Amino acid sequence: MTIQAELIDASHPYLDGRPKGHFINGRSAAALSGRTFDTHNPATGEVIAQLAEGDASDIDAAVTAARAAFEGPWGRWTPYQRQAFLFRVHELVDKHFDELARLETIDMGAPISRTSNFRNFILQAILFYSGQAVNISGETLRNSLPGTVTTFNIRAPVGVIGGIIPWNGPMIGQWWVLGGVLASGCTVVMKPAEDASLSVLRMAELLCEAGLPEGVVNVVTGYGSTAGASLARHPGVDRVAFTGSTETGRKIIEASTVNIKRLQLELGGKSPDIVFADADLDAAVPGAAMGVFSNSGQICYAGTRVFVQRTIQKEFVERVAAFGRALKVGNGLDPDTQLGPLISQKQLDRVLGYMNSAVGEGAVLSAGGERIGGGLAAGYFVQPTIYSDVRNDMRIAREEIFGPVMSVIPFDDLDEALHLANDTPYGLGSAVWTRDVSRVLKMANGIKAGTVWVNCYGMVDPSVGFGGIKMSGYGVKGGRHHLDAFLYQKTVYINDA
Ligand code: NAP
Ligand code: MG
Repeated sequence: MTIQAELIDASHPYLDGRPKGHFINGRSAAALSGRTFDTHNPATGEVIAQLAEGDASDIDAAVTAARAAFEGPWGRWTPYQRQAFLFRVHELVDKHFDELARLETIDMGAPISRTSNFRNFILQAILFYSGQAVNISGETLRNSLPGTVTTFNIRAPVGVIGGIIPWNGPMIGQWWVLGGVLASGCTVVMKPAEDASLSVLRMAELLCEAGLPEGVVNVVTGYGSTAGASLARHPGVDRVAFTGSTETGRKIIEASTVNIKRLQLELGGKSPDIVFADADLDAAVPGAAMGVFSNSGQICYAGTRVFVQRTIQKEFVERVAAFGRALKVGNGLDPDTQLGPLISQKQLDRVLGYMNSAVGEGAVLSAGGERIGGGLAAGYFVQPTIYSDVRNDMRIAREEIFGPVMSVIPFDDLDEALHLANDTPYGLGSAVWTRDVSRVLKMANGIKAGTVWVNCYGMVDPSVGFGGIKMSGYGVKGGRHHLDAFLYQKTVYINDA
């Protein structure tokens, strides 16, 4: 194993070159098989750590720990105790935030400018869920039963959660699971993506440092097809909160039939971003561009299908191409970097494959279109890429690319834009750029997607939340209904007679 010398930070336990274990029952644990796998820095292709390669036996150990913790003292913590705990976590995460952001940048490539910016979001999310902890209530219901019978519902924690998340933003992705677990009194086994596990392991340690009983939060690292599949199938898991591709989502549904697990599925997208001729292009051009290019296009709700009214297509494409070319792509540790690498060689090959197919299908290359070489040749970098004159039935407009690739698709009127926007198997994000209120309302009502942004793109607040429809999955993240998914309704009938 070669480890990039300048990244080794002796004070950082994750970049010291020693193998890292799972996190089970409050401590680090090697894989029971003894196997490890390498994890890389996608900006350089170099190995940054060796992680435990989990399989069914490690998942079983972690689920056993999570079950024992659920049945143990944690299950008797009051809502106030869970809230106060989350306050302590808020303080600790704030204190360690720079370290977490740097770790995430080295592990998955996103620029430090982006990962550092997550501070407010994550701290807000922690306080949001701390508020949720003391807001769990049931209802007393009138009934028409004979005699005097009192009826009420209580909401009880579901039990052991399996949290399976992707690599594109684990610092945030894990909080969509941990927040609900810790507010509700559930316990969890997390399976981060094989390409980005470090911030999840580190967070589990910080939670224990803040006073979390052992076994409440466990992390098993490893591959999706082994560790992930075992977690999805395990009969001791009551619910799976999954974020990832639609293809894997289908496998999670199949695995859930073993014990009829509850599921939350946040899946892929091919979101429409619609720019009308009356839009303020000074806002719409950078807004639509960053709606695709942020995180190098590796965002589930990326607005990759940019529908532009035909009368402004030429101007829009010229301006957005200039914007794309000016973006600074590079190693995320450089504070000036705006776009980092793709996560892996596999993802790079996939994105380049789509780029190769686009022109063959008749799309016009308006910017980018190539892998970046020179000083960045060892990493997985591609240029921000724009195709214009794309048709909605081309592969690049139908399939999720998960790279910095924008498809500009012209339209003539609102009805056509709405029809094309909805002509997709997905329903995650969407946006409309216009100054016309009636157009805003027609589009907001007509678009079939979990979120409609108007004159902005990609804003998410933990207390508002977001979700999807169609093949983008079901369940919401954040918002006041999210916690319901970690609770089940228990009805009590008391006969006074
Ligand atoms: P993925 O391949 O589905 O992986 C997601 C997670 O599932 C990873 O931890 C993966 O582990 C694991 N996994 C893979 N196969 C599994 C199996 N058979 N059983 C159980 N777990 C399994 O997705 P990805 O390519 O990493 O991430 C990109 C996808 O996530 C995109 O489609 C994107 O749209 C979606 N996404 C959605 C949202 C949302 O909120 N809707 C947010 C972010 C991303 P390994 O990585 O170790 O294989
Ligand atoms: Mg990595």
